[in-house]
Amino acid sequence: AIVSTLVPFHRVLQQRLTSLQEERALMQVLSERDSLTRLYNRRVAEEFLSVCIVDANSSDGVILFDIDRFKCINDTYGHQTGDSVLVTVATRCSKALRKNDCLARWGGEEFLVVLRYVGAEMIEQIAEELRLVIASETIEPAGSVTASFGVSLVKPDDTVENLLQRVDKAMYAAKTSGRNRVITD
Ligand code: GH3
Ligand code: MG
Ligand code: MG
Repeated sequence: AIVSTLVPFHRVLQQRLTSLQEERALMQVLSERDSLTRLYNRRVAEEFLSVCIVDANSSDGVILFDIDRFKCINDTYGHQTGDSVLVTVATRCSKALRKNDCLARWGGEEFLVVLRYVGAEMIEQIAEELRLVIASETIEPAGSVTASFGVSLVKPDDTVENLLQRVDKAMYAAKTSGRNRVITD
């Protein structure tokens, strides 16, 4: 009698546990990911950055990139096309990176990659590869899409702010010197 009472009880508990676990996984995705691109959100990228700064490992670095003339894509083809360009850029870049790299949507049409144990040569290569995966194949109906890249490695005594300032300056230099290029600071 006890067993026949407990078995259904156990089943109900098991179902409840499964649904709580599913709910928890969903909450985690919602709190860590950007809803459009499914990339990490800015908050998660900031956590990755803090870890690099605390470790002060000079083979860690960041890549900041921003889609060129994106406003023109929205104005010409509409906001929905703009959104689908963002998703395609995100997908192409995700595929080009390693599983543990942090690729985040930093804001509007701006993306941040936090890379650990890369070094100066490799981080530039990776930025160049990202530039190519975006630019080498058109994204219809928008056509050719490019982005400008800033690259910077962590330096001793860096703060998150310093590092971001440097990489932002490098990206700005890529914009002003003609766009669709990688500049390292
Ligand atoms: P630049 O080459 O100097 O970066 O020029 P830009 O046109 O890319 O830069 P600007 O800052 O003038 O415009 C960015 C535009 O991105 C403006 C904003 O409306 C658009 N944008 C930001 N977030 C989203 C989004 O989630 N979806 C779409 N479709 N557009 C967005
Ligand atoms: Mg832009
Ligand atoms: Mg921008």
